[in-house]
Amino acid sequence: MKLSEIAATLRAVGVSPVKSLGQNFLHDRNLAKWIVDQANIGSKDFVIEIGPGLGALTELTLANGAGVLAIEKDKRLAEYLRDRFRSSALEIVHGDAMEFDARMLYTKPTVKFLGNLPYYISSQLLMKFLEYPSPISLWLFMLQKELAKRLVAAPTTSDYGVLTLLVQLQHRVEYLRKVPSSVFLPKPEVDSALVRISERDPRELPTCDRKAFQKLVRRGFSQRRKQLGKLIREELPDWEDKAVELGLNTRARAEELSLEQWIALTNRIAPIHAEVINDAPEEQFPVVDEEDRLKGSALRSKVHANNFLHRAVHILIFNPAGEVFLQMRSRWKDRHPLAWDSSAAGHVNAGEDYDQAASRELREELGVDIPLVRVAKLPASERTGYEFICLYRGSHAGELRLNPSEIEAGRFFPPTIIDGWMTARPRDFAPGLVECWKIGREKNP
Ligand code: SAM
Repeated sequence: MKLSEIAATLRAVGVSPVKSLGQNFLHDRNLAKWIVDQANIGSKDFVIEIGPGLGALTELTLANGAGVLAIEKDKRLAEYLRDRFRSSALEIVHGDAMEFDARMLYTKPTVKFLGNLPYYISSQLLMKFLEYPSPISLWLFMLQKELAKRLVAAPTTSDYGVLTLLVQLQHRVEYLRKVPSSVFLPKPEVDSALVRISERDPRELPTCDRKAFQKLVRRGFSQRRKQLGKLIREELPDWEDKAVELGLNTRARAEELSLEQWIALTNRIAPIHAEVINDAPEEQFPVVDEEDRLKGSALRSKVHANNFLHRAVHILIFNPAGEVFLQMRSRWKDRHPLAWDSSAAGHVNAGEDYDQAASRELREELGVDIPLVRVAKLPASERTGYEFICLYRGSHAGELRLNPSEIEAGRFFPPTIIDGWMTARPRDFAPGLVECWKIGREKNP
């Protein structure tokens, strides 16, 4: 829309733009087109747009053939947009984007995030929608230039800080261009910038305990001018030794450490024991016949290489809301690394029965000991990886303590979302869960 059209439409809709909602409407159509082009949106994409306003970006996104879910907090604008577009490809949600449940986005094959963000909450919106792991694969948004610079800042600059590190830990960030305030009505007091973010391959950087990383970085930057060693004395009493080991200046301040150095430091304070998986002595698995009768045992690698029939357990944990906990498998697993799997799962070891293995896996992976009910037994087949699988369910209302050497991440999901997710993105899942889920849904629709 041109400037005059925007002014007229706002009058017609009865909206006089308010600062408290960050209402600055884009009136440069060429720029709007350029923005949407940077997200390379096509008919296979599903776009979540935050703060569509009068639809400057929505219109072009729909024209590219994408499905759009747009969340607008201003009721009059939400109604105007419904009326303007009347498209089955567009769903307008009137509400606060901060309250949106992003888990439903897993039911779409490819999701892109788009928005000229309301400036008063841009950083909160970013942290919410950049949460790892995410159903979104690309983020393209406009925000104040100062904030954009913080996202791409390099060490030793004044823009480099907590936000830079928290975002860059999982994402690649590109600063695309500065946008002058003159392209908006009303003109904001600050310039803007366009930023594009994509997922990092999780294996690109060494892993670390993400909660410990966040805590450490926040502590380090709590007083930027102070030496880091003095600020983290509690977490790292032998800072001098560790700093020397890591090749850091013992008098360094937080802003001098690169992302990789922050990761290395986190791993000194809260190590993840990958060696539990990598260097553990190879287990012996019971080998069974077609009737699941014990025949003998063999080393894990031999069992898998020869497709010997063996035994496994899968456990689905439900919370009081009826949601199921799924885990993303650790990057160090030899089979299906980083795939989504049951709440806990694993092989039956030599000398164990199915029930014992289920309780052990639950303790080892999720740190809980709760009663389990056996739901089904799946026959061994190529689809189960030649495993007879006993499927269990349990209920849990409290915290789960995820074992970071076994699990990359985890979350509760409503069963209907998992149904849609498996249809939309079957490759996200470990095959054992897919088989268990089919049977579990038949027994508990
Ligand atoms: N996308 C439009 C454009 O480019 O012209 C409008 C951008 S304007 C900077 C921000 C929009 O976000 C406004 O329409 C405002 O009403 C909306 N908004 C503000 N806070 C919001 C929130 N918490 N959730 C969803 N939308 C919000």
